[in-house]
Amino acid sequence: MNLTLGNKIVLVGNGAVGSSYAYALLNQGLCDDLVIVDLDEEKVKGDVMDLNHGIAYAPTPMNIRYGSYKDCKDAALVVICAGAAQKPGETRLDLVNKNVKIFKSIVESIMDSGFNGIFLVATNPVDILSYVTWKFSGLPKERVIGSGTILDSARFRYLVGKEFDTAPISVHGYIIGEHGDSQFPVWSSANIAGTPVAERLSEERKEEIAVEVRDAAYEIIKAKGATYYGIAMGLIRITKAILRNEHVVLPVGALVEGEYGHQDVFIGVPSVITRYGVKKIVELSLTEDEKEKLTKSVQTLKEIQNSAI
Ligand code: NAD
Repeated sequence: MNLTLGNKIVLVGNGAVGSSYAYALLNQGLCDDLVIVDLDEEKVKGDVMDLNHGIAYAPTPMNIRYGSYKDCKDAALVVICAGAAQKPGETRLDLVNKNVKIFKSIVESIMDSGFNGIFLVATNPVDILSYVTWKFSGLPKERVIGSGTILDSARFRYLVGKEFDTAPISVHGYIIGEHGDSQFPVWSSANIAGTPVAERLSEERKEEIAVEVRDAAYEIIKAKGATYYGIAMGLIRITKAILRNEHVVLPVGALVEGEYGHQDVFIGVPSVITRYGVKKIVELSLTEDEKEKLTKSVQTLKEIQNSAI
């Protein structure tokens, strides 16, 4: 299947995450055309006006407008941040079922347009919804990318960087597995300039960092209702890697088919990102303990996946 090239982006879902992504796109001048789709037409129209008033000071001009799924026809990338939020008293599985239904209708409408590009999914539970997008779209697996553990890994690099007074960009390390409670840091390969960090931290401190990364979203949501800037930057990083054919390694949600000994599930793993999507999953050499944690994380996801689809 021929892939649509160019750099037109359709953003589906213009809530806190989607609108932060649109703002970051404009600031980084990553595309020529941005079309925003959301049920809340009025809010999108307001945001489009607001964003357009910033173009005079953006690095490059950009066409930004409100649109519909038909606009996906010639899009290079569709980014999905749409979905229902968890309501009080609603279980996680209720939310999964609700968002799976929403995704069925969104993905089918996108595919009906003749879309032949790459999907980038951020809506939670992101690993399940990336899988669902892959299934409903019928696109090759490399063309569906979840945000996976891109944000969790950035949080990890920030915290380890603070520990050693080093910029996060110089901290090399990954959170892998579910974007959720069963995720974990791969301490065995985390390093700064090739120097392992795990041996310079106590077991207690390592556990504190892992917990702080895992629970960061709860803390932010408690403080301001939602998390959006960090994930928007993560989505932008993946967008840039795709559009500029970077071949960079990023921790994204990718479909494993034998890698790490698992299959038929989207999980956060370091992957090489190119203009064609996920070129390759990088298999870190894990300790026995890390392998066990990954297996548990995969089991957690599969249980939800099996009951939701
Ligand atoms: P939000 O409620 O602010 O925005 C959701 C948007 O989706 C709303 O504008 C709503 O109108 C729209 N929408 C709902 N159903 C739709 C449909 N059928 N078609 C089109 N638009 C529809 O939520 P948010 O804070 O922006 O979060 C969005 C999602 O991103 C959530 O699922 C959230 O959990 C997730 N998230 C993921 C990460 C990550 O790391 N992957 C981080 C933060 C948030």
